[in-house]
Amino acid sequence: MRGPPQTLKEAQSYRYGKWAGNPQGRSYCAGNCIAEFVPNERGATARQCNRKAITWCSSHDPERIAQQQQARNEVYETHQAQQDRIYKRGQDLVRRLGVGRVHYESRSRPFLGSGYRQEICLPFEFVEDYLKKEYLKKEGR
Ligand SMILES: [Zn+2]
Repeated sequence: MRGPPQTLKEAQSYRYGKWAGNPQGRSYCAGNCIAEFVPNERGATARQCNRKAITWCSSHDPERIAQQQQARNEVYETHQAQQDRIYKRGQDLVRRLGVGRVHYESRSRPFLGSGYRQEICLPFEFVEDYLKKEYLKKEGR
């Protein structure tokens, strides 16, 4: 068998936590989650999850993990699509103004790089309003 068990049947014949210091590993403990994992402790070796479960506990259930990943991907994709729309709207305004650039603000490092940047930022709505007024002025209305 390759890799940790994926089914109850595989778990029943699997040896958990095999390593050089324990080449035989440990047998499956009935009634516990079948996942093998390495605890987040110094010098820890792999072992069977000790949560009670028929097959998987809630944190090791591959289906649940996939659903959570899917949900995270959807949030990310929605955010990306929104960011793309904002960027394109900004790019269009910059093109029509003939000056400026779309400003991306990273909030990951709130203190580094802070300070006045000798530039002003204008909200899209302001620029759209300004362009509309300039257009109407040119048209003589
Ligand atoms: Zn588990």
